[in-house]
Amino acid sequence: MGFCPRCGKPSRNNELCEECRLELEGVRYKDFKIVQCSVCKRILYKNRWIPEEEAIPRIVKDKLLDKWYIKQYKLGKKLIVILEKNNFEGIIEADIEKRICPTCSKKRGDYYEAILQVRGENAVKKMDKIKKKSEIYKEQRQKNGIDYYYYFSREAKKALAQLKRQLPGIVKISRKLHSYDKQRSKKIYRLTILFREKE
Ligand SMILES: [Zn+2]
Ligand SMILES: [Zn+2]
Repeated sequence: MGFCPRCGKPSRNNELCEECRLELEGVRYKDFKIVQCSVCKRILYKNRWIPEEEAIPRIVKDKLLDKWYIKQYKLGKKLIVILEKNNFEGIIEADIEKRICPTCSKKRGDYYEAILQVRGENAVKKMDKIKKKSEIYKEQRQKNGIDYYYYFSREAKKALAQLKRQLPGIVKISRKLHSYDKQRSKKIYRLTILFREKE
């Protein structure tokens, strides 16, 4: 036995008592992020995609270094979890990474709306920082750069805008007829965007 150096209450080995520790240190947990499928909303847990209400409590419990009771959580732009223990409340948060799970990816087939063709060494280096893995279906190395296949053309255009801001270059945009949607009698186009850095 001993006494808490902060409040003087009895504590083990003169260490901080539980209450003081909670007040000073807050919640102790390992940093983590949530990986969520942007189509079916399931969450990746130990290599399996499972429903949110099963996944979140398990992931949070795995990452907490002390035992807490999960009072509630919110999934928005971030995951926010409110925790409770001995009348103390704690809060932790985690980033969310959006991906498309294999099941949804298979259902969609070879789905991508745009190819962003980046040419030039510096441009590819910039893209390493700009690109978000979850937005890209695949990457293909070319002689002079990389082709990035984007699920959605708006995300390819966003990446292009960032690239243009950071580096002078020449841009060419073309669209090709990809298929025909019979139900809506609509032509479906695939966008090809070329960005070549100025030498
Ligand atoms: Zn104390
Ligand atoms: Zn999915």
